[in-house]
Amino acid sequence: MVMRRKLIAGNWKMNGLRAGGIALAGDLAGKCKAEAPNCDFLVCPPAHLLISVAEAIAGSGVALGGQDCHTAVSGAHTGDLSAEMLADAGCGFVILGHSERRADHGESSSLVRSKAAAAKRAGLTAIVCVGETADERKAGRALEVIESQVRESLPETAPEAAEASLVVAYEPVWAIGTGLTATPSDVAEVHAHIRKLLVELYGNDTGSAIRILYGGSVKPGNAAELMAVGDVDGALVGGASLKLDDFWAIGRSCP
Ligand code: PEP
Repeated sequence: MVMRRKLIAGNWKMNGLRAGGIALAGDLAGKCKAEAPNCDFLVCPPAHLLISVAEAIAGSGVALGGQDCHTAVSGAHTGDLSAEMLADAGCGFVILGHSERRADHGESSSLVRSKAAAAKRAGLTAIVCVGETADERKAGRALEVIESQVRESLPETAPEAAEASLVVAYEPVWAIGTGLTATPSDVAEVHAHIRKLLVELYGNDTGSAIRILYGGSVKPGNAAELMAVGDVDGALVGGASLKLDDFWAIGRSCP
């Protein structure tokens, strides 16, 4: 049986100034050094904090990630960061295709796939987000929408070291930042479907090793129940990742 260590990833979004961000990351790093956690922790701060946070978490085992990247290595792309720049800042991960970027910036699944290729080129692990809207779920189309996002957003070729180079995050759009969460049985159904697709796309060994995270209002109060669901290999956490005690408690709830 494949053992997948759980990944608890914090997406800070556009939150945090220098002092608070460094303190939050440093406090998490201190806790991880003092008490080896039962999961991998990752923080994805806004770009202006990457280098300071990299320093604050050095040697703690906490990983660093960006929230997006461009497809190109460099060039005339005002305001963008390349995957190589994220790696240069100390990142090992990058979140791609978050629903806020799909909605706010019109990002298509094919663009997300190109960004995933850029992440691979730079040696980053891409966390590719998929998820249905409330209307799509009400219309009974959740699995169909997720399946097409998975087929169109993920890299065409199998990742080399599966657990290390690709992660999928299931994030129902209606659950992000709303306090609503999918039921454990809905999460189980979607994660099992994504697992089946990963095995179909990349073969049994690789498809079974890729971590699938759940995201959408994960909090200390619901984390244990969600983390116990089959094929849930961790969480992508927004709001609760900004509070050290909550983020730590989510990690501690991993079985
Ligand atoms: C997210 O931003 O990916 C997210 C899941 O946010 P929240 O935990 O606040 O719902």
